[in-house]
Amino acid sequence: MNPIVRIGRTVVALAFVIHASAYSVGAQTPTSLPAPPTTVIRAARMVDPKTGTTMENPVIVVRAGRIVSVGPNAGIPSGSKVIDLGNLTLLPGLIDAHTHLLQNYRGELGGDDPNMLMTVATMSTAKRALLGVKMGREDLEAGITTVRDVGNSGFGGDVALRDAINAGWVVGPRIRASTRALSAAGGQFGPLQPETQKLIEQEYAVVSTPEEARRAVRQAFYDGADLIKVIVNTGPRVVSLDEMKAIVEEARRVNRTVAAHAIGDTATRIAAEAGVSSIEHAYTVPDDVLRTMAQKGIYLVATDYPAAFYVEGLGPATLTPEQKRQQMAGAEQFAKGNAARLMRAVKAGVKIAFGSDEYYDTPGRTRGQASLLTLQAYQEAGMSPLEVLRAATVNAAALLGWGDRIGSIEAGKLADIIAVDGDPLKDVKELQKVKWVMKGGDVVRTVTKE
Ligand SMILES: [Zn+2]
Repeated sequence: MNPIVRIGRTVVALAFVIHASAYSVGAQTPTSLPAPPTTVIRAARMVDPKTGTTMENPVIVVRAGRIVSVGPNAGIPSGSKVIDLGNLTLLPGLIDAHTHLLQNYRGELGGDDPNMLMTVATMSTAKRALLGVKMGREDLEAGITTVRDVGNSGFGGDVALRDAINAGWVVGPRIRASTRALSAAGGQFGPLQPETQKLIEQEYAVVSTPEEARRAVRQAFYDGADLIKVIVNTGPRVVSLDEMKAIVEEARRVNRTVAAHAIGDTATRIAAEAGVSSIEHAYTVPDDVLRTMAQKGIYLVATDYPAAFYVEGLGPATLTPEQKRQQMAGAEQFAKGNAARLMRAVKAGVKIAFGSDEYYDTPGRTRGQASLLTLQAYQEAGMSPLEVLRAATVNAAALLGWGDRIGSIEAGKLADIIAVDGDPLKDVKELQKVKWVMKGGDVVRTVTKE
């Protein structure tokens, strides 16, 4: 596995540096390294989405980026730096399992097709990675401390952003990156002239046989992918069941997951039958596919929004009142259908993970603020606030393969913690106003007065 090799090299390199410096200062052995500083976080209460319980007066001890202990009214180790958040409520950092940080489409261009063409044809991957820095920062400041970025990031832009954040070059959320999504011919592009179809391979790895699918998965891992993203269908262009099975087999062999964009009966059924880890969107999905998903433990990443968002957030600003009314009616119908399928999935026992699929510039909202409207949509559909919190913490952590390090505030886990004013167990809209954010023990947003 790539990271192990890399960690191995780092360890070797560090050992050499320590050795060399020991010589240069007269062969002193570093016997008494100073203990890493300890930070203690206090607040009025802490919500644990895993158990659904609330702890009064929590005291969280953090050292070297990790949580050392958590307890009510616990003692404070001497010499610690204390962060007292007063009357705020603490929660684990939120996890968005479906982001596109290297895209920021503009509604006025008229939808996905012209935006994709404009983005891919005119922006270098370097420029898109820098856009990703801004989008990532906006996610983090809104309380989203980890994302799974699922394609539309040029050739390697998501991997560059992930590695830059890990190296501390820029501040952003933890990232699981997919590199280019696998897809059928054309990717998700609208019609392109033959001369311009070369653009497609900047954004998608097109596969037409199971062998090509296997090769594309291995290439994605070589390019730095943590997981595989597949666009199962775009209009009438569909990745076949044989191709999907080859993709899942290749990924599973090396313990990696497959996220499948699928909409409608045919595509969701192919994805579920192939045994992917999550199905994204599934705006329409039949009940028997939901049953298969529940049975196989396949997550639904429901990329839903309240109806008004589709009109106010994404629509062009130049509509007449009548056009606006029509658009609102369409959006309401779409949101209603999505709410119904979300509750059908919950009822069928399908695990839900939060995924925003936000990739438009939305007036008056940062990327993170817009993304969190998805949680409001889940609540409005009928999920309880606790179920919604789980979708955005423990469930998403498990889907990302990071259930052992994020998703809850427990000893041994990374110190990804956020604070809000009200009670998110009564109304998840409180999460739209995150006041304070810590990622890996570093405060990335301090409490601000409104
Ligand atoms: Zn998406």
